[in-house]
Amino acid sequence: MNTLILKGKVVSLKVKDELLLKIIDLGSKGIIPSLAAIIIGDNPASKLYVSSKAKAFSKLSCYSEIFELPSDTKKDNLINFINELNENKKFHGILLQLPLPKHLDEKEILKTISPKKDVDGLHPENQGYIMQGDPKFIPCTPFGCLQILDYYNIDIEGKDVVVVGRSNLVGKPIASLLSQNFSYGNATVTLCHTRTKDLESYTKKADIIIAAVGVPNLIKKNMIKEGAHIIDVGINRVDDKSKEKGYRVVGDVDFNDVLGKAGSITPVPGGVGVMTVTMLLNNTVQAAINQNL
Ligand code: NAP
Repeated sequence: MNTLILKGKVVSLKVKDELLLKIIDLGSKGIIPSLAAIIIGDNPASKLYVSSKAKAFSKLSCYSEIFELPSDTKKDNLINFINELNENKKFHGILLQLPLPKHLDEKEILKTISPKKDVDGLHPENQGYIMQGDPKFIPCTPFGCLQILDYYNIDIEGKDVVVVGRSNLVGKPIASLLSQNFSYGNATVTLCHTRTKDLESYTKKADIIIAAVGVPNLIKKNMIKEGAHIIDVGINRVDDKSKEKGYRVVGDVDFNDVLGKAGSITPVPGGVGVMTVTMLLNNTVQAAINQNL
């Protein structure tokens, strides 16, 4: 079987084309969609993610500002800072780059971001709207996965979908969205995690697999059915002395192994990651529109 490669870049270009019209319209009213990105501590990967997001914003004439806070920032100081951004009309969206240093409780901090500026879709109010089938902001990575499925016309209705990984960031929202009575839902969804007995018995039956695990190459050819569509969310570094950096990035699915058996698959890199940044732009533009109705 010829496995179709689901390229994030192609989908991203289409979404950005549509966004551009909205950005131009906002611009004609003197509104520039603007994001405040908060990064705490010196995590190099987090810094890289935030700067790549900032680049994407400037390419589409949107504004973003990165606020770097020290790793020992106290909870109350951070909450005060977020409250100031909530009130600051210059910013339509607020992104808190995760993970946070250990002394800060992610859930406690995330719920202090105004739901109207919660462009990452992680506030409990926005997660609740997803559960009710009435999403306001969809977290960027699950939103990107949906866009890929839609662009490539991968039928979801009535299909058996297995989501591996149950994080609030990816697994739970995508499982909820795909099972809702939407045009991009109506699937029968199984959500797997570390306590799932015999993961393979589930993945083998799936028409669509969404892997958001964080374990390099976990899903192999023998774990999928012929023609399965695979969205690989994983971003994992594995040692590779042949590379200048000493590592390469792979997904949660063994890409080369499943080629020829899977119906389609997103590559890593070049698949979901590209879409995550694009959907952050999309959500920030949406926030700017909502705040100026
Ligand atoms: P996370 O919060 O660490 O959650 C991982 C989930 O996978 C957990 O629910 C865990 O189960 C489950 N899991 C771990 N090992 C497993 C195994 N052997 N079998 C079955 N389930 C297993 O991770 P995340 O934030 O969702 O991220 C997942 C991956 O996606 C990571 O590689 C991350 O870097 C990547 N990611 C990529 C993007 C992107 O833009 N492409 C965005 C976000 C994340 P338990 O709940 O039982 O522990």
